Amino acid sequence: MPEPGAGRYAPSPSGDLHVGNLRTALLAWAFARSTGRRFLIRVEDLDRVRPGAEQRQLDDLAAIGLDWDEPVVRQSERLPIYQAAIDRLTAAGLTYECFCTRREIQQAATAPHGPMGAYPGTCRTLTEEARTRFREQGRPAALRLRSAATEFEIVDELHGRYRGPVDDVVLRRGDGIPAYNLAVVVDDAAQGIDQVVRGDDLLPSTPRQAYLASLLGLSVPHYAHVPLVLNAQGQRLAKRDGAVTLADQRALGATPEQVVTALAHSLGNPATSAAELLDRFDPARLPREPWILDGNGLLQRSRCP
Ligand code: GLU
Repeated sequence: MPEPGAGRYAPSPSGDLHVGNLRTALLAWAFARSTGRRFLIRVEDLDRVRPGAEQRQLDDLAAIGLDWDEPVVRQSERLPIYQAAIDRLTAAGLTYECFCTRREIQQAATAPHGPMGAYPGTCRTLTEEARTRFREQGRPAALRLRSAATEFEIVDELHGRYRGPVDDVVLRRGDGIPAYNLAVVVDDAAQGIDQVVRGDDLLPSTPRQAYLASLLGLSVPHYAHVPLVLNAQGQRLAKRDGAVTLADQRALGATPEQVVTALAHSLGNPATSAAELLDRFDPARLPREPWILDGNGLLQRSRCP
């Protein structure tokens, strides 16, 4: 029998998970489990890491009733795998060094008629002399993809066909660390992940990632980009929005079960545990709109669903 595929949750350990993160994790778990897939956790620690955050995140995921199938994987322990993928793209002539500063890119990208937010390709055609000059000036070089596409289409379980821009995405940052868009693609394939469930703020990055996967000869996973939790102003939830983490909720006297109940209700599912949510899980009935949390309302909702 072929190995079942896998879903995953891939938190960045930059702080505690908030209820929006927990809700996405719950959904990723339910999508995987309801389709007979394995469920994996990958810690995306190539960026800002807050000491202790990883363990607290894992504890919170377990506290809301999620389980996972293999030891947790950390991106910081996999640098040679990313470099190997970058080397393959370089050997195929598909990369170039980029010496642009963030500011230069912003200025170029906002120029009239410039492509919206896309890298304008400034360093694509640098001569070897120009590159040498930049190196001598001590400018750090990022490595970019020499993309042959400007758009790529993916299919998403909730959003249907989604076509979005593909640009010369950064593969390795100026500090030598592999970029998120590269690492996520390499990891999903290496871990046998064929179902990616995550917040819909990442939908616009997905065509780039799927294109990158296809260049590397990797299969493109199934995607489901789920609505976020927003604050009363319609912004992404943040620490300043009140009692947004499990620890905050506990401090107010709520149990993890009550938090799960509130999350399930926000998903139109009258469950009081992750296991019950899974029993009744129907992706077709998921809300397509963000869940708006006002003030500390979560606790009340969890008590009086
Ligand atoms: N590590 C990313 C985050 O926490 C998620 C990346 C992904 O799911 O592809 O936002």
